[in-house]
Amino acid sequence: MPPRGGPRQQFLTEEEKKARPKVTSALLKRIFSYLLPYWKQMLLVLCAIVISSVLSMLPSVLTGRIIDEGLIGRSMEKLVLYIVLSLAVTLGANLIGVLESYLNSWIAQHITFDMHNKMYAHLLRMSHRFFTTNSQGDIITRMTSDISGVQQIITNTLSSILSNSITLIVALVIMFRQNWILAIVGILVVPLFVLPTRSAGKARWTITNESQACSDEINGILNETLSVSGQLLVKLFGREQREYERYEAVGRRQVALNIRESMAGRWFRVALSTFSSIGPMLLYLAGGVIMMRYDETLTVGDITVLVTLLGRMYGPVSQLLNIQVDWIRSMALFTRIFDYFDMVPEVGQPAAPVHPVTAKGEVTFEHVDFSYDPDRQILRDVSFQLPEGRCIAIVGPSGSGKSTLINLIPRLYDVTAGRVLFDGEDVRTLDLAFLRSHIGIVSQETYLFNGTIRENLLYARPDATEEMLLDACRQANILDFIEKQENGLDTVVGNRGLKLSGGEKQRISIARVLLKDPALMIFDEATSALDSISEQKIQDAIEPLIASRTSILIAHRLSTILAADEILVVKDGEIVERGTHHELVGAGGVYTQLYETQFNKSADAPPAQEYSEGE
Ligand code: ATP
Repeated sequence: MPPRGGPRQQFLTEEEKKARPKVTSALLKRIFSYLLPYWKQMLLVLCAIVISSVLSMLPSVLTGRIIDEGLIGRSMEKLVLYIVLSLAVTLGANLIGVLESYLNSWIAQHITFDMHNKMYAHLLRMSHRFFTTNSQGDIITRMTSDISGVQQIITNTLSSILSNSITLIVALVIMFRQNWILAIVGILVVPLFVLPTRSAGKARWTITNESQACSDEINGILNETLSVSGQLLVKLFGREQREYERYEAVGRRQVALNIRESMAGRWFRVALSTFSSIGPMLLYLAGGVIMMRYDETLTVGDITVLVTLLGRMYGPVSQLLNIQVDWIRSMALFTRIFDYFDMVPEVGQPAAPVHPVTAKGEVTFEHVDFSYDPDRQILRDVSFQLPEGRCIAIVGPSGSGKSTLINLIPRLYDVTAGRVLFDGEDVRTLDLAFLRSHIGIVSQETYLFNGTIRENLLYARPDATEEMLLDACRQANILDFIEKQENGLDTVVGNRGLKLSGGEKQRISIARVLLKDPALMIFDEATSALDSISEQKIQDAIEPLIASRTSILIAHRLSTILAADEILVVKDGEIVERGTHHELVGAGGVYTQLYETQFNKSADAPPAQEYSEGE
């Protein structure tokens, strides 16, 4: 990324030098394919650039006429004519420049609009694994600043290459036609100007980089310490003073760097003005010598034209010298964007999807193996069957693979071996939208959007009536809470639902799933300690739901487990025991251990002994 602010940086960072993209014809063709739909507009831009470059050179030539024919020739008529002509030409060039900027920005905006849409649609189709392995920051950067960079390339880099090259060519042609010896002197003078510009720029670049690192560090500190959870950590560990000192130290470093940076700019301008005045003086000297000693046809006007044109060359030459940096950066940007486009969604719609009319919610696992990474197997030979209307509870130690197991049903991941069947069909052959629309998951991590409760509920079913919303809230045991709020369903939940308690969020997310009315319900019970009243409220919401539909529960509470028809005990990714509570509790295996150590025993649950004795 180029450092913030200021003019575009003229040098590559070490990272950029290392990650220099390979420019292949395939890459260029691909970039071109995004420009192609706008070829007519681009052709128009090209014409505008050629015309405005030529027009903008004419006043320099006319200056010669003004001097020779108007002033030295003492002709008022010609003087006025050339002055008016010169003004008219400048006005024309500027007007065409306006058209050029409009077209440029129009094309750039449309191309980035296309790319943004394509990227967003692509990201929405990416698999769950993509989002768990890539950082959110990186994904957002590609979506926003990388694609916006493309806009810069089109409005700056491309048009700069074109207009500067054309301006240079036109200037050179006119200079050589005017006087070839002076033209060569002029060309020799240009590097004198350009080279110091570059080395002054390089020094400044180093300081800018350091200052950028400071800025990043400051942003890091602010992000860490001023976020909701960060500031909590600061408070609880009493780190206020230390964090302040850290912040101040970096800020102080940055102040010094910024002062150095502005002074580097000052010296740069001194060098610039000195060198740019040397060129014209040399031309006057050489022109004077030729005019007085060798060639009497050379006029004062001719020399003035050459000096003016020389002045016009500095800008384009130094910009073209810097274009290489812009070019490499642009190619890197496109490569980054294309890298994302090339990622194929791991879980996708099957080629010939099966789309049944209704769903019962039956689930069958047949010898399922699964691993996130090839070197670590998470699930091993998992088989079970969940018939319509029944309920399975999955229990097991933390990290044993329970959440992983249920994630395979809506195809957040695909199995590595074996099959997962939904209503008797391999999930990989089913229409993905059909499959997911019939599965409702209430996960441990409840995610609510920053909006009102109503908006969050409508996310599941945009056409739900007020009656349906209230009914779902009633079933989820959250209606009382909502009715107590001043704004009822229109209460704002805050950033990610932070204004609500864990239990309230859970129940709203249960109501949200209820509105979806799925054939299969999956509850990943929260392990985090909810207070017993919240817990009871969730329990009261869940129990009738389990009774009425096909469901899977990852359970930590005994009362939930007791409501299930079958219990699967998972340990290290394998089903090690299965059966009812009665069958398992006295068996002395993993379940008995879990029962004795982990399950939150409610008052009405008899101890293990009683069950085993009763059998
Ligand atoms: P808990 O009861 O604590 O929620 P769990 O039984 O649901 O645990 P899983 O979340 O399924 O366990 O995790 C099983 C194993 O898979 C863990 O060892 C975990 O580290 C690993 N794991 C989970 N998600 C990923 C992932 N996205 N990438 C790689 N490994 C993962």
